[in-house]
Amino acid sequence: MAAVVALKPCHGLGLPCRNSFGLRTGLVASLVWRGVVRSNGSKAVYDVVVSGGGMVGSAMAAALGHDAHLSEKKILLLEAGPKKVSKELPKTYSNRVSAITPGSATLLSSFGAWDHICSMRIKPFRRMQVWDACSEAMIIFDKDNLEDMGYIVENDIIMSALTKQLDAVSDRVEVLYRSRAVGYNWPLPYQTSDSSPWVQIDLADGRRLQTKLLIGADGQNSMVRKAAGIQTIQYQYDQSAVVATLHLSEATDNNVAWQRFLPSGPIALLPLSDTVSSLVWSTSHEHASELQRMDEESFVDSVNSAFWSNANHSDFIDTAGSMFRSAVSLLMPSGTAARQLPPSVAKVDPKSRAVFPLGLGHSTEYVQHRVALIGDAAHRVHPLAGQGVNMGFGDIACLSQHLSAAAFNGKDLGSLKHLLQYEGERQRHNLSLMAAIDLLKRLYSTSVSPFVLLRTWGLQATNAVPLVKEQIMAFASK
Ligand SMILES: Cc1cc2nc3c(=O)[nH]c(=O)nc-3n(C[C@H](O)[C@H](O)[C@H](O)COP(=O)(O)OP(=O)(O)OC[C@H]3O[C@@H](n4cnc5c(N)ncnc54)[C@H](O)[C@@H]3O)c2cc1C
Repeated sequence: MAAVVALKPCHGLGLPCRNSFGLRTGLVASLVWRGVVRSNGSKAVYDVVVSGGGMVGSAMAAALGHDAHLSEKKILLLEAGPKKVSKELPKTYSNRVSAITPGSATLLSSFGAWDHICSMRIKPFRRMQVWDACSEAMIIFDKDNLEDMGYIVENDIIMSALTKQLDAVSDRVEVLYRSRAVGYNWPLPYQTSDSSPWVQIDLADGRRLQTKLLIGADGQNSMVRKAAGIQTIQYQYDQSAVVATLHLSEATDNNVAWQRFLPSGPIALLPLSDTVSSLVWSTSHEHASELQRMDEESFVDSVNSAFWSNANHSDFIDTAGSMFRSAVSLLMPSGTAARQLPPSVAKVDPKSRAVFPLGLGHSTEYVQHRVALIGDAAHRVHPLAGQGVNMGFGDIACLSQHLSAAAFNGKDLGSLKHLLQYEGERQRHNLSLMAAIDLLKRLYSTSVSPFVLLRTWGLQATNAVPLVKEQIMAFASK
């Protein structure tokens, strides 16, 4: 879905320099650990503490707990919220779902969580159709060999599977639920008699912990990131996402993920079963609250009209687009796939509508001495490409591989040497993807003719070249 843009890694972009200890030079003075260990405080030293047990932090802790090279390490997961296990499968679908890539499925399989997900509830999709509301332009991604392109899974199901896999390694990974970290103190770059070489973590209940490596997985407002003084480039989009669980008018195979770009933002219909799909509709904040407030019948009408109406078409764009499409199909006759019509919606699940403000965020650094950021703590993207949690799972695959190798070679897990390798690899991938997603969001947020024509031709040309589509799919499914 996303065009691939090559960017240099952040290190060449004038980012703050680190001294030999990996601390940003201007910050050293403010990172002084005061050397106070409370008399009632725990002095236990963990090898790794993961702060934040959402989908990304829980998967990180489970991946480390299942790694043979880390079997002697003391690992802790801290989560401010309660434990999330559902004893039995809820009858209704949750309104929070994620499109999961095959790459993420491989990661979750590597420590057994994927089997749990498959045994609970999951809907594979084989095709993705993306089209423009201002023209006939569309792009279809599918696989010849009937392989799955991705999977739609409820976030609660992912959490439940991760919790089971954390329970399975409870002798190796300690988990503290309802435990909020309220302060972090960093080791000095030089040792004094009363200083600790480890990161100190203060919990809301007064306990103090120590760790050789702190992994910040505490979401978009990451306290780890702020406490480490890591800068973040961020802004709020002029859009909110409306999510809801929808019932289709009739049962179908329902194995297509649909997305239409309206001038006000993209609307996506993601399959959950033969008759149920999940809605993610990004639109202006005002329209989002209007959609949330309106009665169920009007809401369903608005969704159907957003997928079906041609009110944004113009004769000029339609003619120019159809001429271009004919020329492309002469040059690349095998590259044009048939358009399918989206299903129509009959009903919305009561109380399933919710609104989330959208934004972009990227940390200029993912690591410092004894600290690494993963998931939304490091990067936040618009949901139009369904990549947010997948990028987090990609961070885990990369970081856990470097930590495993470091443990195998008897190296210090908190050392900046392998942490920097993680940062370099992931920033290259994540920045390219974020730039492409942001560009798509901007390119499709207008109905001004020259831009519409440009993207119409771009989409038609891309749709006609299978090799380019395969490369986009390969990159986005990592
Ligand atoms: C509408 C919408 C649709 C989306 N669809 C997709 C999709 O289809 N595919 C996809 O890949 N992504 C999608 N995303 C993005 C995805 O939901 C996020 O990227 C993902 O949830 C981030 O997970 P995380 O674990 O990094 O952060 P979070 O989910 O924010 O988890 C952070 C955790 O840290 C805990 N925490 C915070 N502070 C502390 C503290 N001080 N001490 C202890 N614990 C703490 C919190 O309690 C929380 O559990 C979507 C997002 C939205 C808004």
